[in-house]
Formats: sequence, structure tokens, C-alpha cells
Amino acid sequence: MKSISLSNSIRRGSASIDLNDVLDMKKALNIVRYYDTPEYGITEFPDERMFSAIEKFQKDRKIKVDGIVNPKGETEKAINEELKVSARSPIVRCTVCGGPHGGSKGDLCPQCDSKM
Ligand SMILES: [Zn+2]
Repeated sequence: MKSISLSNSIRRGSASIDLNDVLDMKKALNIVRYYDTPEYGITEFPDERMFSAIEKFQKDRKIKVDGIVNPKGETEKAINEELKVSARSPIVRCTVCGGPHGGSKGDLCPQCDSKM
């Protein structure tokens, strides 16, 4: 997956949510490591885990945290940027703080590694 292009807004309780959008969004969030595959798999149905992942992503990218992704909106663009980066080199996240790191210190970023 190289990018996502929503046909409708993704938001909690939306009646006009597009299920293909949801599937794309979950796959994208999974690639950029914000959405872990649940025990029931990646489905086209919106779940709270997806909205939490969107909010965490927005927080990390300093975007307004509202759990809403609009077509061509700021969050969609930011996710596409991150997809591009992860296509070049897989993003490895620190198991302690969740920050990205180069992977040279195993599972930890240099800051957390120096505290161990
Ligand atoms: Zn860390």
C-alpha cells in the first residue's frame, strides 16, 4: 500500500462512512504501526481501536486530536507521508516509549536504552 484516498470522512458514529475507506485506513495504520491486528483480524467495520489509533497518530503528528479523517484532509496527508517513509525503510518503534528509532539498539530507542 502506497497511499490512501478516502471517499468519505471517517468519524465515530458516521452513517455515511465508507467501509472500503475503513479497510484502507486500518491497513495504513497497521503499516505505520499504530493499529495492531486484532484477534478478529483487519475488517472493514469501524472499531474503537481504529479511532484510538487515529487519535494517537494525530497527537504524535501535532494535528488536532478529533479521531476524524477527511478526504484530502491533514490527517490523510500525514498518513500518506508516513506510508511513503515506511515504504523506504520500515519504521521501528521503541517498545518502551513508542518513538521511532533506527533499530540499532534492538527494541529500544537510544534514550530508553541509556536508561536501562
Ligand atoms: Zn524509547
